[in-house]
Amino acid sequence: MTSNPKTPSAWGIELSKLWMVCGQNFPVDVKQIAPEVTKTRFPDEPVGIIKAHGITGIDGMLSKRKKGDWCISYDDTVTVPGRINFTLGHEFGHYLLHRKLREEFQCGQGDMLDYESTESKKLESEANNFASYLLMPINDFREQIQGQAVTLDLLGHCAERYGTSFTATALKWLEFTEKAALLVVARDHFICWSYPSKLASKRGTYLRPGTPVPQSALDRLNHVGTKRVNQSCRVSQGIWHSEMEAEESVIISDNFDLAIFLVQFPTAKRIIDHEEEEIQDTFTVLSNRAQG
Ligand SMILES: [Zn+2]
Repeated sequence: MTSNPKTPSAWGIELSKLWMVCGQNFPVDVKQIAPEVTKTRFPDEPVGIIKAHGITGIDGMLSKRKKGDWCISYDDTVTVPGRINFTLGHEFGHYLLHRKLREEFQCGQGDMLDYESTESKKLESEANNFASYLLMPINDFREQIQGQAVTLDLLGHCAERYGTSFTATALKWLEFTEKAALLVVARDHFICWSYPSKLASKRGTYLRPGTPVPQSALDRLNHVGTKRVNQSCRVSQGIWHSEMEAEESVIISDNFDLAIFLVQFPTAKRIIDHEEEEIQDTFTVLSNRAQG
């Protein structure tokens, strides 16, 4: 019998490969793959049922049932596109990685950074990490964007393909892109959080929570209203970075009164260094930052 993967990303990669080898289309359907895989690999305690639970405020739940199998349930009233699929992936992650630790997990993921209500930040970020690798395989993601300028529309296309939210999809791209780019989420003119790609991080583009949004970006936002604006706008140095010009595009989130900026720095040069870097683990990094 083959041994099972040990890390969240290894599990996600193995199962997304399995999905593709079986000739299935995206998005990966957790409702199908979770019962099938667990029936074969863990016949004594498979995922026996996946159903809506009708409890608002709890996005997803994993619980052990009396007969020994496991139930994944989810809030089917969540309307943000892609959130339910990611939640199912997340709960499946708890099953694969954490079921020996507890018999019940209750999860809310309204904001991917909001782990404050949870004691187990590590477990939550591992489950998110698994879901991101399962639903958004990096090889396929690279193919989708190859040779194209990465725009909000292109990321939106990928979000649709993978059945994931815009934010989760953009974070995944930032995790592997070689470009210098920064995702900034703001509310009421202040930055809630920002996340840079590796190259952008090396150029010091991270913006702390509470930093005011640049005035020119606010002016543009007021002008735009509630539409998504795909055209990026070239802005001078000193706006998003002291020394680099940027290309800024912005989208208003449907449900949360949030503005999401995608800021790219086309003039950033790759600093060549010979250190072997570990693959950056976005979803863990984020939860650590959320802890301050
Ligand atoms: Zn969870």
